[in-house]
Amino acid sequence: MRRKIIAGNWKMNMSFAEADDLLATIIQDIDANGLPDNADVLVCPPALYLELATDMASGKELLVGAQNVSSQPAGAYTGEISAAMLASVEVDYCIVGHSERRQYFHENNEELARKVDMLLEHHITPIFCCGELLDDREDDMHMEVVSAQLEEGLFHLDEEHFRQVVIAYEPVWAIGTGKTATPEQAQEMHAFIRALVAKKYSKEVADQCQILYGGSCNAGNAKELFSQADVDGGLIGGASLKAGDFATIIRSV
Ligand code: PEP
Repeated sequence: MRRKIIAGNWKMNMSFAEADDLLATIIQDIDANGLPDNADVLVCPPALYLELATDMASGKELLVGAQNVSSQPAGAYTGEISAAMLASVEVDYCIVGHSERRQYFHENNEELARKVDMLLEHHITPIFCCGELLDDREDDMHMEVVSAQLEEGLFHLDEEHFRQVVIAYEPVWAIGTGKTATPEQAQEMHAFIRALVAKKYSKEVADQCQILYGGSCNAGNAKELFSQADVDGGLIGGASLKAGDFATIIRSV
């Protein structure tokens, strides 16, 4: 059986003190109540707080992810953070190709493919985001869009490396909008993605591939979304900033 993953994407939120407080509350809850046997839980704080997070999570069941990584290995790239740097503070996962990175920072699939390679070289698990715009869905192009994102951003990997990647399906129209994909819409796309993986690699690789749902997932709708056959957990934005809601979502797997 595939393990579920619940990943909290904090985006550009919180002061150092607030991050410290939220981490402490999440860890306290995990210490007190444990985690579901079949789930891994991680938080993705802003880069400035990664070392704080990995220090606090050390020896605990909480894992830590970054929100972004440079596609370059090192050097004169002011403001960037490399995969080697993330590895040096013991980051476990890194989100790649979040729609906000694609939209506001013009990241394309070619660059994202390089980011994936960098992370794998440093033994950090990429969480590769894909998902269509509202116009794509209304034009019935959502499958084509997601298919191209995976083809260009991930399917250059050989099987051994592809096995180390997590996929997050995040319909852009559902991110931060309060408009969630229906469980049926999520299941349909997740099954489609799994079929693409089976076609590219094998059914066995596809059966093991973890595919997360993201887009206004919250304490009220998580259980139904996670109960879909091909939904292996969630990438959670807004609701991951509230410790109580995040705890409820974790226990919805
Ligand atoms: C996200 O940022 O990946 C996300 C899914 O955000 P939200 O849950 O706030 O829609």
